[in-house]
Amino acid sequence: MANELTFIMIKPDGVQRGLVGDIISRFEKKGFFLKAMKMVQVERSFAEKHYSDLSTKPFFGALVEYIISGPVVAMVWQGKGVVATGRKIIGATNPAQSEPGTIRGDFCIEVSRNVIHGSDAVGSAQKEIALWFPDGIVDWHSSAHPWIYEN
Ligand code: GDP
Ligand code: MG
Repeated sequence: MANELTFIMIKPDGVQRGLVGDIISRFEKKGFFLKAMKMVQVERSFAEKHYSDLSTKPFFGALVEYIISGPVVAMVWQGKGVVATGRKIIGATNPAQSEPGTIRGDFCIEVSRNVIHGSDAVGSAQKEIALWFPDGIVDWHSSAHPWIYEN
């Protein structure tokens, strides 16, 4: 399924620390296609909606404060297996457990400042893309497709 989509968000610490270019570059160089991107600082209620599955967690309040603390870069990436592979590129939730070579493994130390979000399943990706890009995304196809995929 080369048209699989995932939602990736560079969190406020990633933006403030100047990691946007490096993060985008990792997904681009892998062969995934950037289908949508915007910088936005979200309202509390929007952050609560994005993380609604975690609302009972003890860190939920701190997580929402973190996400609304500055602008984020919201993106949609496309490619075969992009949800699962995107999570591998990002690394484990807690940077103490993220392997070197992953984004979290290379760029951060604490779970509460882990620089990036990626959807955890195709279904949640669809929900998150609809939440963050309610007007839809640009429909374009890369001319590199045959250089990345056999079919
Ligand atoms: P993810 O899918 O790898 O981002 O992890 P989760 O969906 O489980 O958690 C969402 C986000 O909540 C994580 O990326 C962290 O920023 C934050 N988080 C997760 N666990 C903790 C925790 O134990 N403490 C704090 N402060 N934040 C956490
Ligand atoms: Mg998650």
